[in-house]
Amino acid sequence: MTTENVIIIGSACAGLTAAIYTARANLNPFVIEGYQAGGQLMLTTEVENYPGFPQGILGPELMALFRKQAEKFGTRFLTEDVTRVDFSKKPFLIFAQEKEFKTHSVIIATGTKPNLLGLKNENRLMGKGVSTCATCDGAFFKESKVVVCGGGDSALEEALFLTRFASEVTLIHRRDKLRASKIIQERALKNKKMKFVWNSVIEDILGENAVTGIKIKNVKTQKVSELECEGVFMAIGHTPNTELFSSYLKLHENKYMETHPNSTKTSIDGIFAAGDVQDFVFRQAITAAGSGCMAAIECEKYLESLHS
Ligand SMILES: Cc1cc2nc3c(=O)[nH]c(=O)nc-3n(C[C@H](O)[C@H](O)[C@H](O)COP(=O)(O)OP(=O)(O)OC[C@H]3O[C@@H](n4cnc5c(N)ncnc54)[C@H](O)[C@@H]3O)c2cc1C
Repeated sequence: MTTENVIIIGSACAGLTAAIYTARANLNPFVIEGYQAGGQLMLTTEVENYPGFPQGILGPELMALFRKQAEKFGTRFLTEDVTRVDFSKKPFLIFAQEKEFKTHSVIIATGTKPNLLGLKNENRLMGKGVSTCATCDGAFFKESKVVVCGGGDSALEEALFLTRFASEVTLIHRRDKLRASKIIQERALKNKKMKFVWNSVIEDILGENAVTGIKIKNVKTQKVSELECEGVFMAIGHTPNTELFSSYLKLHENKYMETHPNSTKTSIDGIFAAGDVQDFVFRQAITAAGSGCMAAIECEKYLESLHS
């Protein structure tokens, strides 16, 4: 079995950028792209904040361009999920279903999954009014009514951000008080555009081709009501795809991959992590691509050091 220079796990903004850079550095990268090739941007429509596209670009189109650029320099792809790794010795071992691969270095770019409520219409209307990212999609809801589901710091931050665009932002929270820090709570409670629906959960999202409202159930009275809105933002956290690696690599308490400061190096020499899987602060396409570039350059230096 040949030993690869570098295996990149994941094929979205971070993984494909790492592929472009390592391919151009003649490292002949091998990408195990996973079944969700292209990653989270495949779930969205217009991306308006990725530099270089002043008219905006559709998420899947942007990812197709990333892939084309990686292919142009010779990147090889396997469309399977990595099912197991063995990082206990070098070369590292990576398993995808029945296949086994050996590699001198690894770039982990497996991203995150936004947590969802599991409602029937949630996936169907994703990108058509349902979103998991206010920074990304807030500007599409100028003068609209939107709701935010959640009660922690990030839900309130998303809700306050949305008040810049929307005419009304309603926070739906299953309890009668917020978990968010006091200062941000005060800011939200004072904001005239913010409304709160307490002790309530979203039971369904309404609309054929675009969101038109939600069904809400009060968990105390069991009463079900409808609320008209054009946007529904899920702000109930993200789950990083780190489970496969957790017995070998250091993770933060919140399960995101731990990397050295200002670096993509993980707790094992030769293994790098890039993109949302190690970023619980920014989680943007451009930051994921940026860290994919960092990982590739750090990986190149690591591989060079093996030969010196
Ligand atoms: C609805 C929505 C809209 C968004 N809009 C914008 C926007 O407008 N602008 C913006 O900047 N950002 C936006 N974002 C955020 C942006 O999509 C992410 O920051 C970016 O996709 C992160 O890229 P990533 O490479 O880290 O990983 P991800 O996009 O999370 O992709 C992870 C990759 O890892 C692969 N993978 C996972 N597990 C395995 C495994 N076991 N084996 C092999 N492969 C695996 C998947 O197949 C996938 O290819 C949006 C996100 C969502 C959900």
